[in-house]
Amino acid sequence: MNISDSGGEFALIQRLARIVPGTDTRVVKGIGDDAAVVQVAPAPAPYLLITTDILVEDRHFRRAWSSPEHIGEKAAECNISDIAAMGGAPQWMVVALVLKATEEVDWVEGLYRGLHRSCRRHGVTLLGGDTTQGPVATISITLLGSVAPHHLRLRSHARPGDLLLVTGPLGGAAAALALLEAGHTPSTYLMDKHRTPHCRMDVAGRIACVARAMIDISDGLGSEVHHICEASQVGAEIDASAIPLHPDVLQAARTLGCEPLTWALSGGEDFELLFSIAPERMAELEQVGCAIHPVGRITARQGGVLMIDRNGRRLPLPGGYDHFSRGPAHSDSNQGERK
Ligand code: ADP
Ligand code: MG
Repeated sequence: MNISDSGGEFALIQRLARIVPGTDTRVVKGIGDDAAVVQVAPAPAPYLLITTDILVEDRHFRRAWSSPEHIGEKAAECNISDIAAMGGAPQWMVVALVLKATEEVDWVEGLYRGLHRSCRRHGVTLLGGDTTQGPVATISITLLGSVAPHHLRLRSHARPGDLLLVTGPLGGAAAALALLEAGHTPSTYLMDKHRTPHCRMDVAGRIACVARAMIDISDGLGSEVHHICEASQVGAEIDASAIPLHPDVLQAARTLGCEPLTWALSGGEDFELLFSIAPERMAELEQVGCAIHPVGRITARQGGVLMIDRNGRRLPLPGGYDHFSRGPAHSDSNQGERK
């Protein structure tokens, strides 16, 4: 059976994880969160965080729409976003490149200028990597970071009664991509969301002090809510009317005759954070110093994972992006450029 027919990306990862069961007691969290967590020294030493993400040409970026500097910066930000989602600080990066022999040196240098811009912003040191020849330009980044044990925020930390919040408007990157693919010119706001998304390291540490579960929104809000619910063995209710959408996303939806919520729920690449918090700790969020948007709540597992639409109807919450799925939910115009 092929990957698409056997349940897609996440079913494949589960199958692979069963082949390599771990016995190392220093592993605090292996496969199944935004980054792996390892205890390298006795408490209270920080935990080591490890994450990897790959960008493939014409799948995750297109030269026509992004400069090499944009692509490099985005490659770094999407990895740093996974460390932010654990409540940690990014530290060290290694970069593996697949390039054609005919590749322009200028393009590769531009990629590194973009990587460096993001690394400088977040205090990350690029330590090494690997370079080889192949048919499709591919950038694979592995990022190491650290987190104090009491700041670690796992997908499995949510509890019924928690509120669910996001750190910013959603759907912008997917709206930009849909406009570009339809031959329109996105607004500057949307183009920036697509080309140079900035992960939320600026607020992640302060949120980690008060949140329970946390995850970054790389595959759409729907996917990330499902991940938290599966890992925490809970249900959730998302209020469709509470999902923050930028006016330019609404305008893009009018231009294309689309439902903007689909971009927020299944579009991906927003790199905002989704987190759960006990209601009695909500007042402490004021210290975070940025707009935080309540989008729903965690419920008991039996309640299921639901969305309450604008008419008060309770529907199953749509999932997000899966790199191997087929069918109507994933065959829209956005396919072809997401993490
Ligand atoms: P994210 O979107 O946060 O980067 P992913 O959806 O890529 O997370 O991965 C989910 C989990 O599955 C992570 O813990 C990741 O390390 C793990 N994973 C993904 N691909 C593989 C693989 N080929 N082998 C082992 N683990 C994997
Ligand atoms: Mg992630």
